[in-house]
Amino acid sequence: MPMAYPYRWPGGAEDCGPQAAAQAIDQITKQIGPGNVAAVVVEPIQGEGGFIVPAPGFLPAIAAFCRDNGILFVADEVQTGFARTGDLFACEHEGVVPDIVATAKGIAGGLPLAAVTGRAEIMDRVHPGGLGGTYGGNPLSCEAALAVLEEIEEGGLVDRARAIGDIMLPRLRALAGRYGAVGDVRGRGAMTAVELVRGGASGGAKEPDPELTAEIARRCHAAGVLVLTAGTYGNVLRFLPPLVIPEHLLREGLDVIEEAFAAALEG
Ligand SMILES: *Cc1c(COP(=O)(O)O)cnc(C)c1O
Repeated sequence: MPMAYPYRWPGGAEDCGPQAAAQAIDQITKQIGPGNVAAVVVEPIQGEGGFIVPAPGFLPAIAAFCRDNGILFVADEVQTGFARTGDLFACEHEGVVPDIVATAKGIAGGLPLAAVTGRAEIMDRVHPGGLGGTYGGNPLSCEAALAVLEEIEEGGLVDRARAIGDIMLPRLRALAGRYGAVGDVRGRGAMTAVELVRGGASGGAKEPDPELTAEIARRCHAAGVLVLTAGTYGNVLRFLPPLVIPEHLLREGLDVIEEAFAAALEG
């Protein structure tokens, strides 16, 4: 189903949330039939897809549709989870309570672990041992995950993620003010991104510029700052600093990013 993608929504960002939800619900209803749908799986902020923050209203509308039709609402919080977005989970931002939450990555500070969490009436349907994997429940990884949760609480990392966003987003927006190639700046907490386009945002075409994106990523890497590209067209630079990053390092990283933009766009 199409995502509520404010920057590229044909009707404009303003109405994107409700319109995208209506479109998805219409498609599910007419093409599949709600009775044939077991679950809707959604990333509350798309990761590989380009750090797309769905427009307000999209997630609650999809969740309500699921509830009304006996469909499970599954949130993939693998990338957004565990304090990254300035809430413990990104769904919280809009007060959405999923039936099932998938988590991994940040859950165990780099040790391999993934988890599926859901209401008891769902999870207990599986017979004992029926939900597992080769490395399920690895004791070392589980111990690391417990330590991570403690660190998130004691280190105030949910607030820390918000503070990181408060430092990053204004500086990324300033880049957008300086360079037309920065078409969109988005994100929440310590999960931020810029989308790069040809001809400048004012050109209206919003044509993706993966070459420029790759060049800036390359320049950042050469200067010691690891940034990743993302998005269907590879034209999104995404930033995922560690939640424990010292502020001076964060600012230094942003300096490097700004220099990479200047070198690529001012020659
Ligand atoms: C990395 C990632 C996955 C895959 O997680 P695994 O633990 O490797 O299965 C799933 N969803 C999202 C959003 C991811 O970023």
